[in-house]
Amino acid sequence: MPDTYLPSILPCSSCQGHAQKLESCQPAGRLHKLWRVVCPCGCALNQWAVSEGSAIRLWNRFLGEEEKN
Ligand SMILES: [Zn+2]
Repeated sequence: MPDTYLPSILPCSSCQGHAQKLESCQPAGRLHKLWRVVCPCGCALNQWAVSEGSAIRLWNRFLGEEEKN
């Protein structure tokens, strides 16, 4: 089921850019695509999510955790 609502993507913590893209892949044997957020500066999570929305939430959580440190 596609996400109808996508949360906004936080700016990259490395380059402060807003040009992140959603990248998808479909590993062999999987029924659904996997998604992650990648920044043109090369910043990306190693972790893939099962939907665009959860990929964005993962990215935002990752940045939020960085800010606390
Ligand atoms: Zn960046």
